Amino acid sequence: MLKTNLRKPQGLLIDLDGTLYHGERRIDGADEWIASLRECGLPFLFVTNNSTAAPELVAARLERMGISASADEVVTSAQAAAAYIAEHSPGATVHIVGEAGLKLAAADAGLQLVDNGEARYVLQGLDRELDYSKLQRAVSLLLGGAEYILTNPDVLLPSDDGLLPGAGSLSALLSTASGVQPTVIGKPSRILVSYALRRIGLEAEQTWMVGDNMATDIAAGHGAGCGTALVLTGLTTLDNLPHYMEQTGMQPDGVFADLRQLNTYILSMLGT
Ligand SMILES: [Mg+2]
Repeated sequence: MLKTNLRKPQGLLIDLDGTLYHGERRIDGADEWIASLRECGLPFLFVTNNSTAAPELVAARLERMGISASADEVVTSAQAAAAYIAEHSPGATVHIVGEAGLKLAAADAGLQLVDNGEARYVLQGLDRELDYSKLQRAVSLLLGGAEYILTNPDVLLPSDDGLLPGAGSLSALLSTASGVQPTVIGKPSRILVSYALRRIGLEAEQTWMVGDNMATDIAAGHGAGCGTALVLTGLTTLDNLPHYMEQTGMQPDGVFADLRQLNTYILSMLGT
């Protein structure tokens, strides 16, 4: 542990990719850490920018890796985006550029999904079956005045097949064509974190955001007013941390080499 400014947590918001797993490989100690949080009764939610998979599938993936998880502990950018629209405009018509997880979240939030025809919102996430006619439809709605909501701004996604273009790359195309900039929901936006805080029922000051990425996890947690715990399990290493701190202009409240060190620290803070 390099330094810490963290106060005793009453709940945790936990990033997934690079924090608990890489692709289909569990990160060392992730299973024990989550089991330990359950044992000491510290509430937590898994918070992901991924909009493509429904919470049940995200939980099933964690379970396959030996990390205990249930769907109601998963917060996705798709759910937060749907909740954001439903809050501003209950039952609004929405045209979706995205996958099953996004469509399910929008329907669950009471939004009216429109494939063809007018829609008040264009809600876009990652769509791995995007084609020209879908782009055409979305651009036409945006040019006609639809509001543009983007689930997450990730330009590249790590995968077992290397880096893949993410929702943010597709958004660059839609916003270039339409001239409309989206409202961004996922990290580094604080909107996803605010939604997760409502779900966990805690104030930002009572909660830590835990993740491996300075520009998304730590930035979102910091922006929302949470404590921020950086784990060096993924993107950030001791070597590149100074670079990311300079790039983002911020420091995490705590830095932990791995999940065991983080767990030990949390247990000591909780006095267990
Ligand atoms: Mg991550």
